Amino acid sequence: MVQNLIAENYKRVRSNLESAALSAGRAPEDVKLVAVTKTVGLAEIRGCIALGMIDFGENRLQDALPKFRELPDVNWHFIGHLQSNKAGNVIRHCSLIHSLDRLSLARAIQQGGERQDRQIGCLVQVNISGEQSKYGLAPEGLPAFLEELRSFPRIRVSGLMAMAPLVDHPEQARPYFRRVRELQQKYATSEVPLTELSMGMSGDYLVAVEEGATMVRVGSVLFDPKFAGR
Ligand SMILES: *Cc1c(COP(=O)(O)O)cnc(C)c1O
Repeated sequence: MVQNLIAENYKRVRSNLESAALSAGRAPEDVKLVAVTKTVGLAEIRGCIALGMIDFGENRLQDALPKFRELPDVNWHFIGHLQSNKAGNVIRHCSLIHSLDRLSLARAIQQGGERQDRQIGCLVQVNISGEQSKYGLAPEGLPAFLEELRSFPRIRVSGLMAMAPLVDHPEQARPYFRRVRELQQKYATSEVPLTELSMGMSGDYLVAVEEGATMVRVGSVLFDPKFAGR
């Protein structure tokens, strides 16, 4: 996609984000835009960097590795389902894993962290819609999982990630985002404050911001010329 179209889209998304934050009584700088670049290549990503974008998200390691390697200074987010045997590579390249959803993966991240001698920021992914097709921990399992994660010193749990179901109107996603925030309020502790809420995609990011998202993960609204939303 051509650079000036991305530039236009980015400008619009930023301005929408700012309005949504302000209308919810929030500071716009408290919402991070994670540009999901899974459908675009290095040229577009370099264009985004030139426009001032800082955070980039990928969901499939195989496609992402060449980008990680080529652009090592980018703030990469891993947002997709992660197989335990691939955790090492993600740890090496990413600043935040949004999809920690099971104990076996926590063990793999812990091991990778020990091997690479670093601590890794993670969000616990919650299956807030209860759809079978979605990854993530059932909300009921969250308190026990957070407790278990305390024994993994290489994992720094910084918040929650969730996806709303596909809906016709963004407003229909609102109750799901609200529930994520309720989970945050219920289970945050002084040790693990669950500060970050990664929620909202191209179709529903503005509602997500109104409901407290601190990170939105948007791809189509930046890169897909056919995307009809805001
Ligand atoms: C692809 C993807 C996104 C971005 O989706 P868009 O609707 O294109 O904005 C966000 N989160 C995850 C986990 C994704 O896989």
